[in-house]
Amino acid sequence: MQYDVIIIGAGPAGLSCAIWLKQLGVEALLLEASGIAGGLQTRSPYENLWIPGVQGKTGQQVAASLARHAADVGAKLRINAPVLSVAEGFAVTTPQEVLSARFVVVATGSTPRTGGFTPSVNLAIGPGEPMEALDVAGRQVAILGGGDNAFDQAKFVQDRGGQVTVFSRGEPRAQKLLQDRVRDVPVVIGPYDARQDDMTVNGQGFDAFGVQYGFEAVVPAGLDIRGGDGYVTVDRFGETRVPGVFACGEVTDFWHPCVTTSAAHGVQVAKQISKRLLG
Ligand SMILES: Cc1cc2nc3c(=O)[nH]c(=O)nc-3n(C[C@H](O)[C@H](O)[C@H](O)COP(=O)(O)OP(=O)(O)OC[C@H]3O[C@@H](n4cnc5c(N)ncnc54)[C@H](O)[C@@H]3O)c2cc1C
Repeated sequence: MQYDVIIIGAGPAGLSCAIWLKQLGVEALLLEASGIAGGLQTRSPYENLWIPGVQGKTGQQVAASLARHAADVGAKLRINAPVLSVAEGFAVTTPQEVLSARFVVVATGSTPRTGGFTPSVNLAIGPGEPMEALDVAGRQVAILGGGDNAFDQAKFVQDRGGQVTVFSRGEPRAQKLLQDRVRDVPVVIGPYDARQDDMTVNGQGFDAFGVQYGFEAVVPAGLDIRGGDGYVTVDRFGETRVPGVFACGEVTDFWHPCVTTSAAHGVQVAKQISKRLLG
């Protein structure tokens, strides 16, 4: 099948790009690796307080609302369709088929860094759902990391009755506001030895670990579009160094800390591509 545009990744950036392309009169196909559209927002059971004009919705509700909007305008979306590679021309390979497109949009976002740990019943990687699934009430929980998510999650674990210790290799980078919310939580600063096999940190036993080592970009194979920081380098129109391959949202070297900015980037890319295709 030949498409004008294939968008890879149905997070806020990819969904917004698809919604705009459809309404601008461009036929695009959106491919999502997982079984649900909405990207990182699907991990968040917390209220999203940060989208101007949108109130009273959790991240998961925001994800559902974006997916519904895409469906309502008739944007084509395939879930459970991970893109395995993109080759010249552009040939886009999923486990089911090889598709071709004149333009490709990489909207694959980012994923929590594992730090070499493996998710399990007592070890969660990244913020949101995996942390909420940990049994923490009355238990000793080690939060590994010193950024915003580490302190945010320390507060949530504490609120659920867990005894938290934060381990940060250096001076914590988290906003003071977030650090202040857990002033009574011990923060151990300096190199530490965390072992998943016996659930110890520096020899001290814990019931659960919350690994909060930040995020890294996810880029499909076959595209040489990453910069030195691992994120996709784009120009101000969202185009990568490969002509015809665009990128938007958290996968790019633009700093996209939230739904609104990632979605806006998807919109900008949609406008650029429609101009190229339709004049
Ligand atoms: C717990 C949590 C809470 C958050 N809370 C807020 C908040 O309150 N307010 C706010 O504004 N932001 C919040 N964020 C951040 C926000 O979710 C992100 O900024 C936003 O989702 C980034 O959008 P994106 O589309 O660039 O990437 P993502 O959301 O990461 O979406 C990328 C999508 O691409 C898919 N994908 C990856 N590789 C492939 C492939 N090879 N083939 C096909 N599909 C692929 C992924 O499965 C994913 O669905 C939160 C994030 C988390 C984790």
